[in-house]
Amino acid sequence: MQSSGKPRVFSGIQPDASPHLGNYLGAIRNWVRNQDRYENIFCIVDLHAITLPQDPAKLREFTLELAGVLLATGIKEDQALFVQSHVPAHAELAWIFECFTPIGWLERMTQFKDRTARHGSERIGAGVLTYPSLMAADIMLYDAKYVPVGEDQRQHLEYTRDIAQRMNQRFGNILVLPEPLIEKAGAEIKGLDDPQKKMSKSFARDNPGHAIFMLDPPDVIRKKIARAQTDAEPAVRFPAGPGVTNLLEIYRTIKDQDWPAVEREFAGKPYSVLKSAVADAVIEVLAPIQHRYRQIRSDDAALRQQLRRAAERLTPIANATLLRVQEAVGLR
Ligand code: ATP
Ligand code: MG
Repeated sequence: MQSSGKPRVFSGIQPDASPHLGNYLGAIRNWVRNQDRYENIFCIVDLHAITLPQDPAKLREFTLELAGVLLATGIKEDQALFVQSHVPAHAELAWIFECFTPIGWLERMTQFKDRTARHGSERIGAGVLTYPSLMAADIMLYDAKYVPVGEDQRQHLEYTRDIAQRMNQRFGNILVLPEPLIEKAGAEIKGLDDPQKKMSKSFARDNPGHAIFMLDPPDVIRKKIARAQTDAEPAVRFPAGPGVTNLLEIYRTIKDQDWPAVEREFAGKPYSVLKSAVADAVIEVLAPIQHRYRQIRSDDAALRQQLRRAAERLTPIANATLLRVQEAVGLR
C-alpha cells in the first residue's frame, strides 16, 4: 500500500451476523462518505467474532456477506478491505499487549461485564476479556491516526490509548496514539424491540424483531418497523419517549435532517404516519445497496481474491510494526 499523505483510519466490523441499520447509519455510511479524506483500512474482524460461539459455515458466509455489503455501500475497490485473520500479525501483537495489560483494566470493560452477566463466566471464552487487546493491535499495527466508532466502542478505544501510552512510556515512542472519530447523527441506533438497548448484531441473532438487517426485504422492513416499540401516547409529541425518539433518529439520520425539521414534520402525527415514513426512508436507502450486493455475490471467487490481495498488500505494514514492538520488548 502506498502512503498517500492522508491520515490513516482503521475501521473494523465483526462478521458474527448480518450487518444491521445501526451498523450502517452509525458506522458504514460514514466510512463511505469520508473515504476520500483518509487512507482507509477496512477490516472484517473475524478473530473478534469468535470471542462468542460461531457456527463455522455461518462465520464463513457472514464474512463474505459483510465484504459484499461493504463494497455494495460504495467502499471503493482500491481501498484496503480485508479479513483480520488473513494477517497473522494481529493475533501476535494482541498477545504482547495482553501480557502488558493489568487484568483489572480488562475486567472493568462494560462489554466484558455485560457479556459475563448475560452468559456467565463459565460459558464464555477468555477472548471476551482480552478482546480490547486485539482491537488495540488492529489499530496500532497500521499506525492508524483515527478510528471511527460508535459510542459502544469508546471505552475500548480509551483502553487502546492507555496500552499505547504504557508501552511508549516503558519502551520509548513505538506506537501511534489513535483518536476516536464519532459522528453525532446516528451515533447510536437503538433496538426496535427495546429502545434502552443499542441495536446489536449479537443480540439480533436470537431476537429477530430487534434489528433491521441491511439485506432485509422491503416487506420485512415494514413489518419490523410496524411492530417497533413506541409509547402510550396517541400521537408524536416532543420530547418523545425512547422508542419514538429512536424512530425519529433513524429517519433524520437517513434524511440528513436536524431535530427542528423532524419536529415540524411529525409533531401531532399518529404513529402509523411516522412508522410508514421511517419504513419508506429505510427501504429507499437500502434498495440500491441490496441491488449492488446481489451483483457482487454473483462472483464469490473474485470477491475472495480481492480480500486476499488486500491482505497481501497490508502484511508488510503490519509486520513492520510487530517487529518494532518485538524488538522493544526483547523478542527479537
Ligand atoms: P456485536 O453485537 O456483535 O458487537 P455490533 O452490532 O455492535 O455487533 P460491531 O461489529 O461490534 O457491531 O460494530 C461495527 C461498527 O458498527 C462499529 O463501528 C460500531 O460502533 C457500530 N455500531 C454497532 N452498533 C451500532 C448502533 N446500534 N448504532 C450505531 N453504530 C453502531
Ligand atoms: Mg459491538
